[in-house]
Amino acid sequence: MNEVANPAACKLVIDGVSKWFHTDRASVHALDSIDLSVGEGEVVCLVGPSGCGKSTLLDIIAGLTRPDAGRVLADGQPVQRPGRERLVMFQESALFPWLDAFGNVMFGLKLRPEFANRDRREIAYRFLDLVGLEKFAHAPIHELSGGMKQRVALARALAPDPQVLLMDEPFGALDAMTRDQLYEDIQQIWKKSRKTVVFVTHNVREAVCLGDRVILMSPSPGRILRAFDIPLSRPRDMNSVELATHAARIAAALRGRAGAEAE
Ligand code: ADP
Ligand code: MG
Repeated sequence: MNEVANPAACKLVIDGVSKWFHTDRASVHALDSIDLSVGEGEVVCLVGPSGCGKSTLLDIIAGLTRPDAGRVLADGQPVQRPGRERLVMFQESALFPWLDAFGNVMFGLKLRPEFANRDRREIAYRFLDLVGLEKFAHAPIHELSGGMKQRVALARALAPDPQVLLMDEPFGALDAMTRDQLYEDIQQIWKKSRKTVVFVTHNVREAVCLGDRVILMSPSPGRILRAFDIPLSRPRDMNSVELATHAARIAAALRGRAGAEAE
C-alpha cells in the first residue's frame, strides 16, 4: 500500500520489493515486500538498525542490485540498471586518491559527455564552490579532512545534475562537530539545488534533521515498520527541542520494536 495517492506523480515507486541473499551457510531474507513512494523533491530518510536492509534497498533503487520480487519505478519507468538520473553517495567517500578534488568532480561529469570540456570545468568549479571547497580544488585528496572528502563526494554526485540523490550513511564516519556543520550546509545546498533524496542512516536525529519523512525499518526480514512525517520548517537546528521531540518519538518506536523481539 503506497501512501502517496497517485503513483504517476511520484518520482520513485518501490512496489512489493523483496530480496534474499544466499550464501553457502545460510539464506538471508534481506527485504520483505517493501512498498514506498517518494514524491518529486521529497527527502525521505530510511532509518533502522544495522542489517535491516537499508543499503540493499538503496542499491535496488540505484539499479545496482536486482530485487527477487517487485520492482522500482523512476518517473513511471522500471529501473533496470544504474543511470545518471540516480546517483549514489556512499559512507566511505570512494574518491580517487590520485586525482585532486577538481579531478574527482570532473570524473563524475564523464556522465555528461554531451558537455564540452570547457563547460565541464566550469560546472566542476561551480559545484566545488557550492560545497565550500573553492580554495581546495587542487588539493590532493589525502590532504583533505574526512568532512572535506565527503564534500567533494557530494559535489561529484551533484555536478552531473541527477534527479535523485541516494545517500548511504554519508556522514557516518565523521565526528559530531563536523557532522553538525554538514547538516547546516547540506540544508542550504538542497535549498539551492532541490533534489529528490533517499538518505540512509542509523542515526534517528540525523534522519529528523534532514527528512520530510522518516521511514523506520526493522530487521529479519527487512520491513517498513512505520513512517513519520516531519513537518518542521528549514533550516532545522540539530539541537532544537522540536527536533529532539520528534527523534524521541521515533526512538521510542524503535525501542518498542526491539522489546517486542526480545520477548
Ligand atoms: P543495512 O544497510 O541496514 O545495515 P544491509 O542492506 O547491508 O543492511 O543488509 C541486510 C541483510 O542482508 C544483512 O543481514 C546482511 O548481512 C545481508 N546481506 C547484504 N548484502 C549481502 C550479500 N551481498 N551477501 C549476503 N548477505 C548480504
Ligand atoms: Mg548499510
